[in-house]
Amino acid sequence: MGPPGAGKGTQAKRLARRFGMRHLSSGDILRAAGNSGSALGRSLKSYMDAGELVPDEIVVEIMAKAISDAPAAQGLLLDGFPRTVPQAEALDRQLAQLGRPVEAVLVIEVPDELLVERISGRRSCPACGKVFHVGSLPPPPDGRCDACGAELVQRSDDTEPVVRERLAAYLRQTAPVIDYYANSGRLVIRTDGSAPPDEVTERVAAALEKLASKA
Ligand code: AMP
Repeated sequence: MGPPGAGKGTQAKRLARRFGMRHLSSGDILRAAGNSGSALGRSLKSYMDAGELVPDEIVVEIMAKAISDAPAAQGLLLDGFPRTVPQAEALDRQLAQLGRPVEAVLVIEVPDELLVERISGRRSCPACGKVFHVGSLPPPPDGRCDACGAELVQRSDDTEPVVRERLAAYLRQTAPVIDYYANSGRLVIRTDGSAPPDEVTERVAAALEKLASKA
């Protein structure tokens, strides 16, 4: 968990690879559904473009399917879900039925102003997902992805006003989910996400290794 721009996606991909877990990103799954051209897709896209959360019933249904489709033998690393207390409650009900409870909650914390700078400078490849940053990882001069050649874009929800709305939504709706887990006795691991990405990965990985060695 963590606010938009905290590096959840980057860290989740690395940790999933390192620990052999299945990475499920609700943002990626909802964006794919949003581009499907269906009426549901158009509705999903309108929430995402405005920086608002997609309604709980829709997200819970889509993520429940993704979770139950994931191979049972693999650990799951959920990225971006749950983002509200009702989503967390629905997830707990589903995981209790599957006998696979939430084992740890990773929270990446970053100050707001750094988040705005990080996200509004982001340029993404719509084809392969590679992400650049106008300041720290400049896109190639021709504006095309150096991995696959597609034209880079600024995601419609990465513009500054939408970023501020997403941060407000995080504080209002998602921060209480961390309390929900802490108050119900789950292990909550907090990390400073303003550190360089490799350092964040190593710190979180060390915490997960410790958890795995106790299991
Ligand atoms: P992300 O890529 O995680 O920043 O998600 C992009 C957008 O997808 C968010 O701004 C929301 O509109 C939507 N979204 C992703 N995950 C959720 C969720 N768990 N609940 C509601 N909306 C979500």
